Amino acid sequence: MRPEDILLPTPAGLYCGLGGFHIDPTRPVNKAVITHGHSDHARPGHGSVLATQETLDLMGLRYGGNFAGTVQAARYGESLNIGGATVTFHPAGHVLGSAQVAVEHDGMRIVASGDYKNVADPTCAPFELVKCDVFITEATFGLPVFRHGDPDGEIAKLMRSVALFPERAHLVGAYSLGKAQRVIALIRKAGYDRPIYLHGALESITRYYQSRGVGLGELTAARDADKSQLAGAIVLCPSSALNELWSRRFPDPVTAFASGWMRVRARARQRGIALPLVISDHADWDGLTATIAATGAGEVWVTHGQEDALVYFSVSHGLKARPLALVGYGEEDETDGVPERGESP
Ligand SMILES: [Zn+2]
Ligand SMILES: [Zn+2]
Repeated sequence: MRPEDILLPTPAGLYCGLGGFHIDPTRPVNKAVITHGHSDHARPGHGSVLATQETLDLMGLRYGGNFAGTVQAARYGESLNIGGATVTFHPAGHVLGSAQVAVEHDGMRIVASGDYKNVADPTCAPFELVKCDVFITEATFGLPVFRHGDPDGEIAKLMRSVALFPERAHLVGAYSLGKAQRVIALIRKAGYDRPIYLHGALESITRYYQSRGVGLGELTAARDADKSQLAGAIVLCPSSALNELWSRRFPDPVTAFASGWMRVRARARQRGIALPLVISDHADWDGLTATIAATGAGEVWVTHGQEDALVYFSVSHGLKARPLALVGYGEEDETDGVPERGESP
């Protein structure tokens, strides 16, 4: 049996012929298995969706209740038999509810990781290493220049700035699903206990995190605050809002942006970010390569991002490897500030 007999890359995404399902399909399909709630992986319009309860809820928040014909929730560690393929969800450590999907048949196991990170995150279940024959990895930060470092150290920079400029508002751009909530949790971990203000676009997902028991402290809608309250305040917003009219109502704002791309100083400068915070929900180069090795996989398939260096790394370590060239991913979360094709990061 070849791995392609279990999972086949197709234009709509990875397809399991045995079970008749696609993983993270980019087009409407009959049966979808979805790794996590980012919109490039979780799209509306499928006949049925199998995903974790959190991913289903997040899709419902974003698309409304009728985003799929039928839905089924899978728990981490629970194995389901779908047409002779055994499907198991394992935590991916990326955002709340994110899962790697293991597909097994006839003694061969393939793990489709979706997006993942192997570092601690107080807002989601930790990444679980799953031994497998074929590992399908993302490659968002698949270049040796990407080393994310310590997120607490990045938050300490923000805290220093808040202490130094108590009259200025600190606007922190952060992706709405996952990053914003993780940044808030890290700020709380650093001991900051004043209210944190939210842009309207972050409210529903952040409230959902709280409803799932993620501790984020006191949160207030920024629109409900007057200018005097906002002096010295920390305000989370989508990065796009940093350059919009919205940001002008804040007293002498300091702009920060939490993203793995902030490692690239030119990106921060170009966007006028005074305080770049290198915080990513994707594995960095060390995380990607360590994970590939630890899975014990003899074969690696690399999808969306900077595929070439990871393929080269795998082959030079004696593994079979190939880029999948799947189209349609990497349009959300940390693609903010992604280098254009051909432009070096
Ligand atoms: Zn993602
Ligand atoms: Zn992705």
